[in-house]
Amino acid sequence: PITLTQCAKTFRGTRVLEPLDLAIGAGETLVLLGPSGCGKTTTLRIIAGLETPDAGGQVRFGDDDVTRLPIERRQVGMVFQSYALFPNLTVRGNIGYGLKINKTDAAVARQRVDELLAMMRLDAHADKPIDQLSGGQRQRVALARALALQPRVLLLDEPLTALDARLRDTLRSEMNTLLRSLGVTTIYVTHDQAEAMELGDRIVVMSAGRIEQIGTPRDIYFRPANRTVAQFVGTIN
Ligand code: ATP
Repeated sequence: PITLTQCAKTFRGTRVLEPLDLAIGAGETLVLLGPSGCGKTTTLRIIAGLETPDAGGQVRFGDDDVTRLPIERRQVGMVFQSYALFPNLTVRGNIGYGLKINKTDAAVARQRVDELLAMMRLDAHADKPIDQLSGGQRQRVALARALALQPRVLLLDEPLTALDARLRDTLRSEMNTLLRSLGVTTIYVTHDQAEAMELGDRIVVMSAGRIEQIGTPRDIYFRPANRTVAQFVGTIN
């Protein structure tokens, strides 16, 4: 499990995240949901090691205190908006990128990439450039690239946000199937209620730097803890 204890964040004297406690179970998909500016990305970046929490905060991966470790020593896999794939590399090049940077032995790297190509049903596309792929194939390349170094946690920051609405609906359900089949501990940031409801085992509803509620999609929808949650998930207008 991944545990955040009293993690707060202040930028230049402004508190953007109040001290928060969060526990993510092994294999769970936890969605951070809330409007723009509520602190979702900051929370994700604290887990990734791209930000350090204010003094007193602690991040643990299992029994390991990773609070002071930089991202490259945390074994996290990240997927960003619209996947941010390398357009001038092939599918194989994209998936193997981290292994190469990491100076993984070439034969070992090739085997790992082959495994991921098979897992993501991309074998037939291994040597294609990214711009010849469909949206669903690109999504699978992005996940494969994030999984290449066998991360302890997969972090997704609004991966579907910049896509057009039709593609987003299709890829949301494909994402759901993929995340369930992978069984990797995943934290998924979105401001989209439908995405949160479909993908989350549990949802953390955030607003103005605070957690308003943590619960299953059913809890959040049918038993919103307060008016802010009810309004945001659309239970009331
Ligand atoms: P969005 O979906 O718009 O990214 P968010 O919920 O992910 O929103 P954050 O990106 O975590 O929100 O930002 C929370 C607040 O912290 C915002 O008010 C933002 O302007 C501020 N903030 C984030 N990063 C920095 C930074 N490096 N310096 C100063 N302020 C920052």
